[in-house]
Amino acid sequence: MTAPVWVGAWEPADGEARVRALFADRFGGEPDGTWSAPGRVNLIGEHTDYNGGLCLPFALPHRTYVAVRRTGGDTVRLVSAQESTGVREVVLSEVAPGTVDGWPAYVVGVAWALREAGHDVGGFEVAVDSCVPYGAGLSSSAALECAAAVAFDALFGLGLAGTGDAPDDAGRATLAAACIRAENEIAGASTGGMDQSVSLRGRAGHALLLDCRDGGVRHVPFDLAAHGLALLVIDTKAEHALVDGQYAARRAACEQAAALLGVPTLREIDADGLGDALATLAHGTGPVGDGSADAEVLVRRVRHVVTEIARVEEFVALLDADRVEEVGPAMDASHASLRDDYEVSCRELDLAVEAALEAGALGARMTGGGFGGSAIALVRADAVDTVAAAVAQAFAAADLHAPAFLVATASAPAA
Ligand code: ADP
Ligand code: MG
Repeated sequence: MTAPVWVGAWEPADGEARVRALFADRFGGEPDGTWSAPGRVNLIGEHTDYNGGLCLPFALPHRTYVAVRRTGGDTVRLVSAQESTGVREVVLSEVAPGTVDGWPAYVVGVAWALREAGHDVGGFEVAVDSCVPYGAGLSSSAALECAAAVAFDALFGLGLAGTGDAPDDAGRATLAAACIRAENEIAGASTGGMDQSVSLRGRAGHALLLDCRDGGVRHVPFDLAAHGLALLVIDTKAEHALVDGQYAARRAACEQAAALLGVPTLREIDADGLGDALATLAHGTGPVGDGSADAEVLVRRVRHVVTEIARVEEFVALLDADRVEEVGPAMDASHASLRDDYEVSCRELDLAVEAALEAGALGARMTGGGFGGSAIALVRADAVDTVAAAVAQAFAAADLHAPAFLVATASAPAA
């Protein structure tokens, strides 16, 4: 029997102590303060954000901590406990797309984007430490950006984040926009806006219904424990090549389909209009120019996006009706759609989902962009260990890397 490996979340005081110690060791003296931001898991609504659609993430108890000190001048010095590169140095006024190598891009990118938006952000020293699994589809990248964003907000007097008791949602949407620009333009990762939005705008005990057409949010109560349930996250540890290219190809196919259908984004196609839209795509086009997806592929991509948005609405309606134990079939259908129509799953994600369901999960699906990363399973609270053990066993039997597990409760946003 292969025992499951659990990834616990740090107590905030521990995270702060770690990052202060790293700061003192590398930079000497005390930081001006410490800030932190959570990773996230998405309950449903995958590959919908860049289509103007709906998604339903919540903030993990796992957070990235930063200790920061203003230095005056224009130079940034950075160190991370997760990176072995030592102290890195970047000159803020020289930052532009394509100029920053590696992980510092996620931090200086946020400073750059805030400066681009007219805010007066200057030099600083920053130490980073994190218990968010790295590159596991749980958005360690957004956790880092958003921790930096709230630190800059406080240190440079931007006045956007509000206080812990009274977060300023509009201000936080502005900070999220800077984090998204940082990730897209300076880190060079083409992602939608879900991760940064929930890390800054989520609320403990709630999932965040995010409407990516207008950036609107609704906090939907999400308390699994009250129903004797738990959300098990399975980090498959699978990493596949070509991830970035595949992600870009999915985005391009959606844009191509929207253009052919004469709509700004696929959000404008609702479930009732899906049949007509698919018929238009199937009959209208054939292979469309160099590098374009052919009609049959476009049909499947569009079917995923439109049905996935409808599944978010179905899931939220069940939460609103206090019937969370009934969301399993929507999760299963989401996984099938991502696997078959959107083609972003992989062997490890499929195995995690199948093994969890076989062990009694009420529903299971891949979460995040796909091609590796994590899956989630809705399980009875008293079955968490059994389901995790069954998944670990299935991975061992298939000769795959041992997965890691965490239990996710809806936690607090960046602060
Ligand atoms: P995910 O967001 O799913 O964890 P990404 O590939 O989007 O995966 O982001 C991971 C990258 O973000 C890392 O390779 C690194 O560059 C950066 N990063 C995230 N967390 C940290 C950290 N604690 N310290 C330094 N860099 C980090
Ligand atoms: Mg990321």
